[in-house]
Amino acid sequence: MRIILIGPPGVGKGTQAHRLADILKIPHISTGDLFRRHIANSSRLGKSVKSYADASELIPDVVAERVVSERLSRGDAAEGFILDGFPRTHDQARVLDAILETRGAKVDHAVEFILDNAELTSRLLSRGRGDDTDAVIRHRLNVYEKERDTILGHYGPVVAELDASGSVEEIGERLLSTLGARVLQVLGVHGARSSRTAV
Ligand code: AMP
Repeated sequence: MRIILIGPPGVGKGTQAHRLADILKIPHISTGDLFRRHIANSSRLGKSVKSYADASELIPDVVAERVVSERLSRGDAAEGFILDGFPRTHDQARVLDAILETRGAKVDHAVEFILDNAELTSRLLSRGRGDDTDAVIRHRLNVYEKERDTILGHYGPVVAELDASGSVEEIGERLLSTLGARVLQVLGVHGARSSRTAV
């Protein structure tokens, strides 16, 4: 199953992607995490993108596309993946479609996480990352607004809306039901899911 998660910073996509990856046994691919790792390792790529990431600006398409294309070509992504933070532009969406087309595949689900700005800001502030100041948060939310229109325009009718308020568990349950019957199939019907959530 090939899933893309859309949503503003701080909405909980990463947490849910991680949980879902565990359930569906497909990789969670976060471009933000990939770039942060490169930056932490001071790789050549990391050095070339650091100034963009530091300013919360989008890294040039060609770089983001190369990173994703390489990651998707690894064996663990052959049967599916959860993309978090990609695509963010029209060009990236077109490149993703083209990569999948060469495999006879497509994006199966696009889910938009929805939460109001006040709640988002408080989640980001409570996360306590050094770069999450009020002004930075406002800027990141503005950058996202533009991205959102672009991505929703591209995936249009396949986008499912998800209420991203509440606890991690509540959002997780909503996400599973949004993804629907195919997830239950992968899980081998209800038993697997209820025993997992009971733990
Ligand atoms: P995120 O953790 O998804 O908010 O990403 C952190 C930073 O990585 C962003 O502010 C961008 O600088 C960069 N980034 C992540 N994904 C992309 C992407 N698909 N295209 C361009 N830049 C990206």
